[in-house]
Amino acid sequence: MVVLYAVLSIALVIIGSVFIRLFWCKYLCPLGAISNIFKFTGFFIAVLVIYIALLLFGVKIHFAWPLAIASAGGYLLEILNYSNRIIPVAKITRNEETCTDCQLCSIKCPQGIDVASMKVVKDADCNLCNDCIDVCPEKETLQINKREYLRWLPPIAVVVLFVIGLLLESVWEIPTIDKRWYTQEEMANAETFSREGLKNIKCYASSMSFASKMKRVNGVYGVATYVGDKKVKIYYDPEVLSSEDIEKTLFTPSKTPLRPLAKGVADVKVVDVLLENFFDVYDFNYLAKLLQQKTDAVGLISEYACPVIVKIYFPGNTEINEKELLEILESKTLSWEAAGKTNEVVLKYEVVGKIETGSISRGEYINLLFSPYKVEFNNNKNYDSTVVKVYTLPLGKNRSLKKRYQYLVSHISNDDGIIRFQTVLNNEYKQMLEISFVDTMTNSNQIHHLLNSDTLKFTYSDGRTGKIENMFHFDEPGTVKEKN
Ligand code: SF4
Ligand code: SF4
Repeated sequence: MVVLYAVLSIALVIIGSVFIRLFWCKYLCPLGAISNIFKFTGFFIAVLVIYIALLLFGVKIHFAWPLAIASAGGYLLEILNYSNRIIPVAKITRNEETCTDCQLCSIKCPQGIDVASMKVVKDADCNLCNDCIDVCPEKETLQINKREYLRWLPPIAVVVLFVIGLLLESVWEIPTIDKRWYTQEEMANAETFSREGLKNIKCYASSMSFASKMKRVNGVYGVATYVGDKKVKIYYDPEVLSSEDIEKTLFTPSKTPLRPLAKGVADVKVVDVLLENFFDVYDFNYLAKLLQQKTDAVGLISEYACPVIVKIYFPGNTEINEKELLEILESKTLSWEAAGKTNEVVLKYEVVGKIETGSISRGEYINLLFSPYKVEFNNNKNYDSTVVKVYTLPLGKNRSLKKRYQYLVSHISNDDGIIRFQTVLNNEYKQMLEISFVDTMTNSNQIHHLLNSDTLKFTYSDGRTGKIENMFHFDEPGTVKEKN
């Protein structure tokens, strides 16, 4: 269907352009439609007055509606009326006495207006670009409103409007999205929580994803996002939530290994650091990259608190120079190479409070950094534990491919007898893969064969299928446990 619309649209533009000069610019350009509000000013003012009156009567309408109506109305007026007669503003005038009928003005006009045949250009498409005036060889023949000095009006108006735009932009924030899922009455007691510096608010899609996350939080009435400032406003019920609850909801605790912990290291040193302005996963990822570049740290965890606590883990035999570590953590920028180009970001978080150090065992550390992965499928709830067995084997180097587990999961789910995929730590803190299966439908040999297939056959969420070379290798054979 999308392809059909695309083909029809392209055909319309091509056919229209064959018969009508500047067909797209005149009839289809959305920017042109918006700019019509300046041509049909009277109509726009009428829409604005009605909008303000409705607001005064308590009818809440998003500002996009009057803008859309003014644009669509201007578009219709242009088609039906084709002359700007609503307000007598500046227009190109031609002095028939001095005109030599050379036609240069009509040829030059970018809007295709036949200037040479008009005494006054009333065409709605005239944007006062002055091209016709510039090209006219006869002095003071083409003017704006018969006044020579008015030829400076359009450039001066552009500069003035540009400056006004800049000033308005600094005082009047236009949200990227403004979503509310309660009525104005229900929101009567709502309070607003604002937060700037959220790097994950970077476009319309990320704003919508943020809104759907906040919609699931009880007591949140709506959100507005401002991509330019990386800012959000959250409307909430103060009787259900506090501003601190919202801070906590915005924060995503994270953990990541920075490098493997060498064999034989029995314990791990942990350094606790308190950070301000450490808001989202981007801050966490930047800090992880910084520590990878400049320290021997093996792991990093962030925990919600005010200020945020980050825990940095080092092999037990590391001599930690606190002053040096502090200097690294206070780095103002971070740069790294990726895909042949250098990336640089400004690090806005600040170290506050005292650094505290401690120590934990190797096992505790592995347990802390481990993030289990579990997916169930193929109607797993239908099977009684008496028929379900578990095929278990070491994850080995496959543990570094966690972001690609979904391909492997989709591939093995093609066997209807396999019903669960999960990763666990065994008693020796070794990462294991556990695959639950119905023993009357499949067996461990078949599972091992599937895990080591040359290609992975997977299915997208929309039902399409695909193939990818298998990047997983399970050399060690597994064993079968009776129960999970
Ligand atoms: S001012 Fe520009 S758009 Fe208007 S008639 Fe002259 S050349 Fe055409
Ligand atoms: S360019 Fe000047 S002189 Fe030539 S037709 Fe146009 S108005 Fe007349």
